[in-house]
Amino acid sequence: MYALNATHSRDLVSWVESANQPDTDFPIQNLPYCVFQTPDNPASIGIGIGDQILNLRACGEAGLLSPDFASASQQSTLNQLMAFPPAQQSQLRARIVELLSEGSPEADKIASVALVAQTNVDFLMPCNIGDYSDFYASVYHATNVGSMFRPDNPLLPNYKHIPIGYHGRASSIVVSGTPIRRPVGQLTPAEPGAAPTRDACKLFDYELEVGCLVGQGNQLGESVSIDDAESHMFGLTLLNDWSARDIQKWEYQPLGPFLAKSFASTISPWVVTMEALAPFRCPEFQRDAEDPRPLDYLASDSNSQFGGIDLQLEVFLSTEQMQQQGLEPQLLTRGSFTNLYWTFAQMLTHHSSNGCNLRPGDMLGSGTVSGLTRDSRGCMLELTWDGDQQNALPGSQRTPIELPTGEKRKFLADGDSVIFRGFCETSDHRRIGFGICMGQVLPATQST
Ligand code: MN
Repeated sequence: MYALNATHSRDLVSWVESANQPDTDFPIQNLPYCVFQTPDNPASIGIGIGDQILNLRACGEAGLLSPDFASASQQSTLNQLMAFPPAQQSQLRARIVELLSEGSPEADKIASVALVAQTNVDFLMPCNIGDYSDFYASVYHATNVGSMFRPDNPLLPNYKHIPIGYHGRASSIVVSGTPIRRPVGQLTPAEPGAAPTRDACKLFDYELEVGCLVGQGNQLGESVSIDDAESHMFGLTLLNDWSARDIQKWEYQPLGPFLAKSFASTISPWVVTMEALAPFRCPEFQRDAEDPRPLDYLASDSNSQFGGIDLQLEVFLSTEQMQQQGLEPQLLTRGSFTNLYWTFAQMLTHHSSNGCNLRPGDMLGSGTVSGLTRDSRGCMLELTWDGDQQNALPGSQRTPIELPTGEKRKFLADGDSVIFRGFCETSDHRRIGFGICMGQVLPATQST
């Protein structure tokens, strides 16, 4: 696990003025990676600093990086850089802090050849995600959803022993801003025994998640121990795991989610590194006294004490009418990543425990981040649900969300935009943010 060092000092100041604003997501203590392009720049690796991007490709070409990083800095994805072990990741971070700190002798050179305003770029996928696995790590989400789909048996007996996950779809992961087409599929019959219909999804939903992007991989047939798991984690990104609930309800048994999930997932363009998150590590979730202890391969002192991440998450909704009237997006949910029953180290360790090889750029989804209270539920399936366990989907009692235009939502409508934000904040360290993860719902394309 990354230790605190000089790059985390709240006293650091950058010569990029916007990075010193108290409300910026990207102070010099953060330095998240992205991949961007402009009419003048091919796809290039960048680093967020205030409202600017440090062009890592240009830094390499200008001789500002050591030979270790020269090749990685010229790539159009992060995968090669992600494979570096933590000691090298730290060296690169320290060098970037040096280049961007107030008083840097390279400031003028960088300002003229390697700094681009974020408003002038197109963001691309930060890395090539070879495989995506999605977990189910919030016990509150699992209990709520279990209550709707299986009122008699909400939390299955394996939940507190094993980080539950399934293999997701990597090909349909898109970067923030990409429109999301409402899927068409087989929908749950209106009553038991009736035939399903095939139509546009009517219960269209988002899922507030965090993606963990794998750094160093492991060889096929070898596993990663819980104490080594953090060294295989490169960084975190915001993740919207769009979900078609009426398709999901009908298809998910017995093999799990399929077309209800695979049509699209959105990630933020920014990858906040595990080293940047070091000041915000916290103990793992406090299990109830009667809960089972995890098996030995999923337990360690380090994971107990520092496996959690004190990350705050927010969901906003903006409808087309709200945009036309110039209204601000409405906050729907405020959640905390400390609500996860399993840590990313436990998920990664479990994933590799059968010898499955994880590769640089693979993504592990946390599962929907939901808390105990209604205003911390991380999807509309939970947010508008009235909590009556007799009311399983479909047709369950729901209280719609009311918007300032008078519009109401139980699930997402065409034209709605869903926006995620995330940030870490403590009194001892500089606040760091994750930027935004946004997608707008397009109408379904009807096919016969
Ligand atoms: Mn999910």
